[in-house]
Amino acid sequence: ASVLKADKIRKKYMSEKGFSVTAIEDFSLSISENEFVSILGPSGCGKSTFLRMVAGLENGNEGSLTYKDKIIKKQHPEIGMVFQDYSLLPWRTVLDNVVLGLEFEGINKKMRYEEGLKYLKIVGLENFSQAYPYELSGGMQQRVAMVRSLVKKPSLLLMDEPFGALDAHTRMILQKELLDIWEKDKKTILFVTHSVDEAIYLSDRVIVMSGSPGTVKEVIPIELPRP
Ligand code: ADP
Ligand code: ADP
Repeated sequence: ASVLKADKIRKKYMSEKGFSVTAIEDFSLSISENEFVSILGPSGCGKSTFLRMVAGLENGNEGSLTYKDKIIKKQHPEIGMVFQDYSLLPWRTVLDNVVLGLEFEGINKKMRYEEGLKYLKIVGLENFSQAYPYELSGGMQQRVAMVRSLVKKPSLLLMDEPFGALDAHTRMILQKELLDIWEKDKKTILFVTHSVDEAIYLSDRVIVMSGSPGTVKEVIPIELPRP
């Protein structure tokens, strides 16, 4: 069943000089439950904007965007997001970064630490729970950022070039770990990348957004067999 639907959405920004910039125009897509979909496209074509709209961080100007048939207007508890720059809080330990969302939900300390540690174990970082982000490598920090989203058990996980800042070797390891997580812990993933290889390796389907903002985006379905 389709869970995420975008129907002819349009998003304009107002530039500092007062020009309006169309970041997304006439963009439609439909994503099924537990599907792993990549959005591919060159810099500036509107990938991040679309992801931020799905995350409820940005509102569109036209068209409709729904998750499980409800219009996305603000952040949705079942939708999690992972950014390229990890955005961990430097003054918090790894574990305290991971449980941040659970803390906002008012879950007590014992329970949130238990959950946090359980998820840190999945990515092999349980011994780093009391470390600070600056003590970790890039790959480890991105694992922490993924776990911080996963601990809230999102049914839809949005990933905005999560491995873009990592070296090729580390990227490969994290791609594999992400697939393992996705296979065990079924969820829908929407993954933004500008790497064709990464999109093909990870996804069931690739959606290509065209080059310049303000043009109609092409949707090229590439159905991929899993090895
Ligand atoms: P991508 O993620 O594919 O690189 P973006 O979604 O970041 O593309 O940007 C799409 C277009 O919207 C670009 O032309 C960009 O300059 C513009 N844009 C993005 N965010 C803003 C903003 N906050 N204010 C003004 N223009 C923006
Ligand atoms: P990654 O963190 O993805 O392994 P790096 O190759 O940059 O990427 O790792 C930097 C250092 O951190 C290496 O010495 C690596 O062995 C160490 N490291 C990474 N993950 C762990 C882990 N789970 N436990 C212990 N050391 C780790």
